Amino acid sequence: MTLTILRSVRPWGHDLVDLHIDGGTFSALLPPGAEAPAGAEVIDGHGMLALPGLINAHAHVDKSWWGRPWVPYGGEPTTQGRIAHERAQRGALGIPGPDVTERVLREFLRHGTTAARSHVDVDLGVGLDGIAAVQEAVARLEGALEVEVVAFPQDGVVRREGVLDLLDRAARAGADSIGGLDPCLIDRDPVAQLDGLFDIAARHGCGLDIHLHAGGDLGAFEYELIIDRTRRAGLEGRVNIAHGFALGQLPAGRQRSLLADFAQLGITWSTVAPIGSAPLPWEAMREAGVGLGLGTDGVRDLWSPYGDGDLLRVALDFARLHGARRDEDLVRVARLASSDAAGFVHREVHDLVPGARADLVLVEAENVPDAIVRASRRELVLAGGRVVARSGEVLL
Ligand SMILES: [Zn+2]
Repeated sequence: MTLTILRSVRPWGHDLVDLHIDGGTFSALLPPGAEAPAGAEVIDGHGMLALPGLINAHAHVDKSWWGRPWVPYGGEPTTQGRIAHERAQRGALGIPGPDVTERVLREFLRHGTTAARSHVDVDLGVGLDGIAAVQEAVARLEGALEVEVVAFPQDGVVRREGVLDLLDRAARAGADSIGGLDPCLIDRDPVAQLDGLFDIAARHGCGLDIHLHAGGDLGAFEYELIIDRTRRAGLEGRVNIAHGFALGQLPAGRQRSLLADFAQLGITWSTVAPIGSAPLPWEAMREAGVGLGLGTDGVRDLWSPYGDGDLLRVALDFARLHGARRDEDLVRVARLASSDAAGFVHREVHDLVPGARADLVLVEAENVPDAIVRASRRELVLAGGRVVARSGEVLL
């Protein structure tokens, strides 16, 4: 395999280096300017700031209408209203299908996201077709963007007979994780939903990634049910809570005791930093060792017209929501969006270091905080050592 040398870049804003890439993996960071071996491909990084490829820890790549004419939102403004609206309208928009997913994945790549964990709807209407559509779209992009699939029961679990069987089939067919949704607010039977999900995960050894929108004590009650079942099922390190809006609303003492359990059981958290949500206790989470990832959630879909697939803008939202002002905090936010999210896509290491997959983003920025607060344009994106986007255009 050809050696690629990315000349003159500043990893994380540090001193200039030449990055050597061999077989799709970073092989060395060397002082700039050394003569390139014969046959090496050389790319000029123009002294730009280099970050690892961004990791989107919570996406829904099966359900966007990105790239189509504008679709006005026509459903009721509740979670149940959005679910019903989506089920009624999605077929007319080609959802699920490989074309809709490919358009979103291209947008992710353009913005420097090179790995994602995506929930994919599994329900009585589409069965497992959405998962097949996502897999086809990922294959079309020749592995540039790695996507982990969470089989997601968006329409409810135990309130829809047959959904647990579908999730079981998805897990058997190799889905990385199965999802869950509001055991109290949607299914109104939290014990039945969670027992069903944990039973499948324990039998197949897959992960669990559960959307929780409930606030306050109801949300905390759901956390306790999840903690208890994670411990009993021996699923340490396999469970993620998405959104979990209640955590930011609870008193500090309650947060601390929950975080101790999350850390002990390797229960992680993903957030999309919505405006108006209670800030997460992210410093306490870091100190306790609770993994935290950032995601776009849905992008321009039948739930909401918002979102453009740019995870750096989500990082900016997160930074503002949490009042991050100091440089070290803004760098930490950038790490949440990239290197620290490695576990969300089952990577041992994801960084600008030898041995990591050569996923990288170059931006015109003075330093990492500058890149975050401006969400600077992605000038060059490498995925597995290949140039996949340049000057804001996808090349695949
Ligand atoms: Zn979601």
